[in-house]
Amino acid sequence: MSLKPRPIGPVPELTAFVARAAFPDGNPFVSLRDTPGTFYDDERSADLFPDRGRPAETPWRLALVTALQYAEGLADRQAADAVRGRIDWKYALGLELTDPGFDFSVLCEFRARLIAGGGESRLLEAMLETCKTHGLVKARTKRRTDSTHVLAAIRTLNRPELVGETLRAALDGLATVAPQWLRAWAPPGWFDRYASRVEGSRLPEGEEARRAHGEVIGADGFRLLDAVYAAGAPRWPGDVPAVEVLRRVWLARYYLDDGRVRWRKAGDLPPAGRRIDSRYDPEATFGNKRTMTWTGYKVHLTETCEDDEVHPITNVETTPAVAADVDQTGPIHTALAARGLLPGDHLLDAGYVDAELLVGSRSDHDVRLVGPVRPDVSWQARKPGGFDISRFVIDWEARRVTCPEGRTSVLWQPGRDPWDNEVIHAEFSRHECPACGSRSRCTRARTEGREMTLRPRERHEALQAARRDQETASWKTAYAARAGIEGTISEGVRAFGLRRCRHVGLPKASLQHVITATAMNLSRLAAWLAGVPHGKTRVSRFAGLALTG
Ligand code: SF4
Repeated sequence: MSLKPRPIGPVPELTAFVARAAFPDGNPFVSLRDTPGTFYDDERSADLFPDRGRPAETPWRLALVTALQYAEGLADRQAADAVRGRIDWKYALGLELTDPGFDFSVLCEFRARLIAGGGESRLLEAMLETCKTHGLVKARTKRRTDSTHVLAAIRTLNRPELVGETLRAALDGLATVAPQWLRAWAPPGWFDRYASRVEGSRLPEGEEARRAHGEVIGADGFRLLDAVYAAGAPRWPGDVPAVEVLRRVWLARYYLDDGRVRWRKAGDLPPAGRRIDSRYDPEATFGNKRTMTWTGYKVHLTETCEDDEVHPITNVETTPAVAADVDQTGPIHTALAARGLLPGDHLLDAGYVDAELLVGSRSDHDVRLVGPVRPDVSWQARKPGGFDISRFVIDWEARRVTCPEGRTSVLWQPGRDPWDNEVIHAEFSRHECPACGSRSRCTRARTEGREMTLRPRERHEALQAARRDQETASWKTAYAARAGIEGTISEGVRAFGLRRCRHVGLPKASLQHVITATAMNLSRLAAWLAGVPHGKTRVSRFAGLALTG
């Protein structure tokens, strides 16, 4: 494939003439080609293609076709047809009217190249760079972030189905790479038991019968694993990915009790993220948010939210469903820093904010996190007049705490909590506290002094300041702009299919989400160029009464 970067020429004259005649009132794709341009070039994708071989479509066109395809929700065949037959697509792609286009399989191949070359985010990055050049997005403006759940492209399985399908997949994998070995080894009854898909409707009726059936499958699986990993067995069956999945599923789901295979009870299973929940997509994990559970992934979208900006999505992170939101704040800032698009204020919900991040975002990236921090949940904070930690004066240099009654701590002990966080343990006198008149507002210990756990100074002060800030009207006004990201997620889910994986595996889910964000940006840019104002966050009529006073 010869992919020396080629200059992107103007739209062919005849194509331009026909497009203007066909769309006298304008067309989004035509407007985008005129301003801000093609977004992509060949240079950026040249490393994804070999220097030699059969000629191909130019990478910049494949990138743009991919974005247009997701913007319109087209399958690969439909997108290839649109390249051949639609005048607005030809205009955007700068093609002659007579251009025959390409085979639809080229699009799948292009996506595979993006994943293989680690270029999942290139489509979005190139678009943002063009937007920056045209002043459509700026650094140090406000950003907001939120996440939503994403369902893996799998059939949800109950326990007997999971183990049955896992064993069947391992046998299919072995039948492909080691057919002679498997034919010679497999017990005859297995061809009936594992030849067709394992479905609940075909399993024995009743809990006891299903448990016993599951243990038969378990014994079969262990027998197969013993044969695959036996001394003197050929090496290659053990390299089959489905056999490795079988091994991991069996370790998590079964145990041997005096040589007999038993199911592990639900409480004995490894935690989500350390076990396989679907043999169809071993990377998809069990997720749980409030009352909702799902198997798959989570996607975090970050967008700008200034009134005078386009509101493009500036970052997309796809993670296993089990990953906590708070662990994504850092990676989001790192990605935005690499694009030169760090925010000044970053609006997030409580799941993304903690004391460490309040300090780290400031010191590492000069970003102010605007999101509610966890309130103090101690009984002292909930009791009216209680002496919560904010009522104590801390002298960090002298390593001493003074209580509201003017007594000073007698112990200052740095250490670590059970989660390995740095903490300081402070204690008051066991002689003074029991005799104190305010003891009922301060401690429930009868014979000991008040004890408290402090975070390191910067984190403690940042947390206390954030707790005070979030009670102010100005903070609430600033934070109100975060709600707009809910509309973006709703748009992604309803108009761009964000919630359902099209393909299997984290890299493909990640690429799908980046392309979806790119397509959403295309549609937002087209609306901005057409002068369509930003939508307002909707409130119910009743709630609106409170806002209008
Ligand atoms: S109980 Fe102890 S720490 Fe609390 S106010 Fe009284 S003297 Fe101070």
